Amino acid sequence: MTTISERLQAVKTGIHHAGLESGRHSDDIAVLAVSKAQSPDKVREAYSAGQHAFGENYLQEALDKQSRLADLDIEWHYIGPIQSNKTQAIAQHFSWVHSIDRIKIAERLNSAHPTDLPPLQVCIQINVSGEASKSGIEPGDVFQLAEAIIRLPHLRLRGLMAIPAPTQDMALQRKQFGLVRETLVMLKEQLQKSGHSQNAAGLDTLSMGMSEDYPAAIAEGATMVRIGSAIFGARPKNKE
Ligand SMILES: *Cc1c(COP(=O)(O)O)cnc(C)c1O
Repeated sequence: MTTISERLQAVKTGIHHAGLESGRHSDDIAVLAVSKAQSPDKVREAYSAGQHAFGENYLQEALDKQSRLADLDIEWHYIGPIQSNKTQAIAQHFSWVHSIDRIKIAERLNSAHPTDLPPLQVCIQINVSGEASKSGIEPGDVFQLAEAIIRLPHLRLRGLMAIPAPTQDMALQRKQFGLVRETLVMLKEQLQKSGHSQNAAGLDTLSMGMSEDYPAAIAEGATMVRIGSAIFGARPKNKE
């Protein structure tokens, strides 16, 4: 049996190698451990192995887990689809939200975010797989949403997130991740031109790459890879 600690170490080694191949330092590539469908005990085990940032997709499950792990100093990231009636709890219980794809959701998170906490760190989710996905906005619509988000005082826009269509073909993986990278470059240029240089400079995050495709994501500039099964093992089936 491999332990969570061993798997985490293997992922770190994988990140290091992928980084070397593209001339990147693994210090610039953060690991977000995706703990959806995993028990609080497994999160605790990963935490003891040195992992402090965790990503969750389902609000109720995340809140239950958070209350059982309140003694740990975990940085929680919300990475799942967001329904409007969940924005208040998300704004209160997470440090990061990766999956914003509508202005209405951004506005609701902004109003609900407690003012005594640091701003909510957010990414815009873009759709790079066309018909295959219903989540994320089209790359061409990113600028408009970004401009709206940077006006919201309790949100801090950090970059882009994407979940490409799964494929074993590394060239195809890279093509989709490359589109995310290019979209961020374009967005920064557009923000600079429209007088938002400071906000453009703060866009330092490309949240992309999962257990099966993180080497390709790193080759295309990922700064945060979201890894679930490679750290925790296969998810319990009924919770997929
Ligand atoms: C489940 C999930 C992951 C992790 O997937 P693995 O293949 O288990 O690494 C990453 N990002 C999002 C948005 C997810 O829903």
